[in-house]
Amino acid sequence: MIAKKSLTLTVLAALALNPLVSFAASKMPLATGTGGAVATISEPATKAAMQILNQGGNAIDAAVAAAATLGVTDPFSCGIGGGGFMLIYLAKENRFISIDHRETAPRNFSPAVFLQEGKEIEFDTAVSSGMSVGVPGTVRGWHEALARYGTMNFKQVLAPAITTAEQGFAVSANFHHFNVGSEKKFAQFNSSSALYLKDGKALPVGMLFKNPDMGKAYRELAIGGVNAFYSGKMAAAILHTVNQPPTVNGVQVRPGQMTKADLLDYEVRLRLPIHSTYRGYDIYGLALPSSGGITIAEALNILEGYDTKSMSREQVEHLYLEASRLAFADRNAYLADPEFVDVPVTGILSKEFASERRKQISMQHASALNNPAAAGDPYPFQNDQSIPLRPLPVKTVLREESKHTTHLTVSDKDGNIVAYTYTIEDWGGNGMVVPGYGFLLNNEMTDFDFSGPHPNVPEAGKRPRSSMSPTIVLKNGKPAFTVGSPGGATIITTVLQTIVNHLDLGMSMDKALAAPRMSERNGSTTQVEPNFVGSPQALRLAPFGHQWKLADELDWEIGAASAITFNADGTVTAASEPVRHGVGSVLVQKPAH
Ligand code: GLU
Repeated sequence: MIAKKSLTLTVLAALALNPLVSFAASKMPLATGTGGAVATISEPATKAAMQILNQGGNAIDAAVAAAATLGVTDPFSCGIGGGGFMLIYLAKENRFISIDHRETAPRNFSPAVFLQEGKEIEFDTAVSSGMSVGVPGTVRGWHEALARYGTMNFKQVLAPAITTAEQGFAVSANFHHFNVGSEKKFAQFNSSSALYLKDGKALPVGMLFKNPDMGKAYRELAIGGVNAFYSGKMAAAILHTVNQPPTVNGVQVRPGQMTKADLLDYEVRLRLPIHSTYRGYDIYGLALPSSGGITIAEALNILEGYDTKSMSREQVEHLYLEASRLAFADRNAYLADPEFVDVPVTGILSKEFASERRKQISMQHASALNNPAAAGDPYPFQNDQSIPLRPLPVKTVLREESKHTTHLTVSDKDGNIVAYTYTIEDWGGNGMVVPGYGFLLNNEMTDFDFSGPHPNVPEAGKRPRSSMSPTIVLKNGKPAFTVGSPGGATIITTVLQTIVNHLDLGMSMDKALAAPRMSERNGSTTQVEPNFVGSPQALRLAPFGHQWKLADELDWEIGAASAITFNADGTVTAASEPVRHGVGSVLVQKPAH
């Protein structure tokens, strides 16, 4: 257990670095009404989406508008230099589709790309390099979303983001905080220091920040469409940055080897989402290469075997942690890009496999400490003759993963829903602003396992395993709620815990989001937020013997979620973070009075 004194200090330190209260004043994290609804982490992004809805755009148009604005206001976690996963519910057709626009490994990749003399290179060295950059998927993802399911074009939906980039906004405490986190990284590159540092330090709170180069990039997309990104001048600038990083004098980083063809050939994948059931609800989540949907579904299948309604909160939370541990053991062992490896998805998702996994759980005690759970054997439940050969037993490894991205959600008056998580991976991505275009490049390739044998090792054309988990839940065929979060691998536990809080513990969605988060990912300890340790809830959970690990002082938040619930009376409630990440921002089209 962590001493109360260190908790207090940690909370104070975290609050000192995140003066949330002052920043929170103008933002609204909860609203109910009718018509469309928007929840994001950024007020300008939420307003951008609402502007598009009010102009007659649908949820897909509005989601792209919000995402583009987030690329300006939250540039350290997302932008057109990265990729993501968009989950769409089309109300009229009662159908789901997901647009996988995950970054893809360039052609030069091999399983040894992050090895030097047979050893894994340092994680941070890999991050700040040209090698960590995957071919960005965001612009093609937005293009496909608009062309197939939207009603507007780039020019219309990028307009609010262009205004925000060109007119600027005051640097918030939250922006500053994440800027501080990337100072060292940005100091290595001329273009990044020029945009995001002042005298070598993060931009001060209150400063008017403008990004005219980002405005220019969006203007080129508005005129030239998707091709303006994947070919021509912007493509050349991206390749130049990746292959000859714009380092300051005296700094050397590893260059990448991305080619024109890598950019030109980038494709999104339209994938059927993962569908599972939980206590009468239908849960739709992301399919591979995101591990989110499968891992959440497995954990819920495990939990479904317990009568949680008759249990105390701490008993349910103990089971949540144990179910998450087991689901992560399987995730860490088996899940990777399905175009490169045969993953036993059917087996992992089967209710019978969940029953088998449940046998590992004690109602009274946390699993053996310092002893990660072994992966289960889903093959007997796979019922798939196309996977005749069982692979060798796999190790379940919890590897280093960064955790900074953004999640937004929009619904429109016709009932369409978009749940969208997108990212450039680490805070500030790989640290390189593309000169002249004002956006940061991703370091998504560090989501691969650096060494094998493992299904998630790097390969040319492969997409690294993700944790992004935009989720939409139906009850009796009608939308009940949607939720998602940033946070690297903690995305999965944040979404899972929010679902458990809402459905099993009966919390309203805003309370489910506000509750202190615990993230168990089959490591030796369970990561918790500072306000959990020493709380009455933590004391009640203590007899189960879980081993807590306090989140990093500079980085204490687990996730920054957004949700919309669809109420029985026909109203919608948009809910975003009430405390974390500088407080989220929501709007509904016609607020209830
Ligand atoms: N790279 C992470 C993933 O794909 C997301 C980035 C983050 O949340 O930090 O799961």
